[in-house]
Amino acid sequence: MPTSVDEILRRNCLSVTESRKKILTLFINMHGALAHGDIERKAGEKFDRVTVYRTLQTFVEKGIIHTIPTTDNSVRYALCKDCTEGHHHDNHVHFICTNCGTTLCLEDVLIPEIRLPKGFTLSEIEVVAKGVCNDCKE
Ligand SMILES: [Zn+2]
Ligand SMILES: [Zn+2]
Ligand SMILES: [Zn+2]
Repeated sequence: MPTSVDEILRRNCLSVTESRKKILTLFINMHGALAHGDIERKAGEKFDRVTVYRTLQTFVEKGIIHTIPTTDNSVRYALCKDCTEGHHHDNHVHFICTNCGTTLCLEDVLIPEIRLPKGFTLSEIEVVAKGVCNDCKE
């Protein structure tokens, strides 16, 4: 994974702005996913909510990060591995710790192909594995 924030932005034809740099750095330094609220909190001193929101939207559109479904209506985001603009293929399972909310991309656990009845089209599949993470284990 490239670790240079500038490089990722440039590769995606995004101008390097303070907010993009800051938020992308949060993702690179984080092992796992970040909740929208966490990002707002961590970037909130310097940037307003709208800026944070727009930056995240841009990253999702560009294929830099993907959203992760959660049951508590909080949106989480994680870095993509090799997605491109408008074309996400993050077909892996996500793990959510029911105790602390830690969310991980299980890159090696692929969502099985789903065969639908004739004429049906699939837009997305979300598979979330729930359990207790290592830190929360008794
Ligand atoms: Zn993606
Ligand atoms: Zn946990
Ligand atoms: Zn993921």
